[in-house]
Amino acid sequence: PQLANQIAAGEVVERPASVVKELVENSLDANATRVDIEIQGGGARLIRIRDNGHGIAKAQLTLALERHATSKLASLEDLDAIRSFGFRGEALASVSSVSRLTIISRTKEQSEAWQAFAEGRDMQVQVKPAAHPVGTSIEVADLFFNTPARRRFLKSDKTEIGHIDEWLKRAALARPDIHFSLSHNGKLIRSFRPAKDDKSYLNRLTQVCGKAFVEQALAISCEHQQMALSGHLQVSSEALAQPVQYFYVNGRLVRDRLINHAVRQAFVESAQHQPGGFVLMLSIDPGQVDVNVHPAKHEVRFHQSRLVHDFIVQALVSAINQGQA
Ligand code: ADP
Ligand code: MG
Repeated sequence: PQLANQIAAGEVVERPASVVKELVENSLDANATRVDIEIQGGGARLIRIRDNGHGIAKAQLTLALERHATSKLASLEDLDAIRSFGFRGEALASVSSVSRLTIISRTKEQSEAWQAFAEGRDMQVQVKPAAHPVGTSIEVADLFFNTPARRRFLKSDKTEIGHIDEWLKRAALARPDIHFSLSHNGKLIRSFRPAKDDKSYLNRLTQVCGKAFVEQALAISCEHQQMALSGHLQVSSEALAQPVQYFYVNGRLVRDRLINHAVRQAFVESAQHQPGGFVLMLSIDPGQVDVNVHPAKHEVRFHQSRLVHDFIVQALVSAINQGQA
């Protein structure tokens, strides 16, 4: 089983940023409102994620580390309408197979916290009492210590922390209600306070995308047949260098051909303008979209792809035209 876990880890755990992604998504699935990320040595030495979510009960602690152990799908039908980030039950098993992993967790029903430790190769899990408020801390130490080929593939600390920061910025925009922080080697490098209203959301948008973006961007809010598109779109008369371009489907950041095509087409149709940056959120019935396409879950498949495509084009074209008027 360890070999299977390590092979699965190859798909899910490419670098420290992928560990951060999986762990923070678990925190969000656990309804955390605050997630603190502590990194040492670019993440190769230590990744510690602390949340105030619902925690993991003592009896579930070791189970959480097992492959295909997920608490998020009650039935196969749930697979057709996934609402949580996780559903494969692979992340913790994969990460623990290539690191030294400690989970400390406490549920609100428990008066004390419990801790489980697993170490790559032999996966002996020990459970013992610990101190922790309601919520979960997961520590991943010595990532890839037992898979040297992958360890060598890691880039400099600066590059790895850059990937983590980049991922966090996207997550912070998708979840303005969550308090996130990121520190590296003991130094706080990001702090996103929870946004309670439009104004504080704009602060967060400024933190992530910069002042120019927020000043230039058109606000979009459009609904059609149970789909809604909202967010900000920058329209520019000249090509911009490296504009931020984030598209979310039901809170999940996606990189998707159909969506890219729709955005490009909107700009072709409204002529004269170049696509600048955008931060766009599509809400759609979870039963209308398949996120179970790839383990890293960047791609999506829409059941009515034509409808979704044309809705996005229409929404953007009308926003661009209104913005010009
Ligand atoms: P998945 O997210 O696909 O269910 P994971 O391997 O990521 O699988 O996590 C396994 C299980 O561990 C989850 O289903 C959940 O029950 C539990 N878990 C992991 N992280 C947390 C957390 N931060 N808070 C609460 N439960 C968690
Ligand atoms: Mg998960």
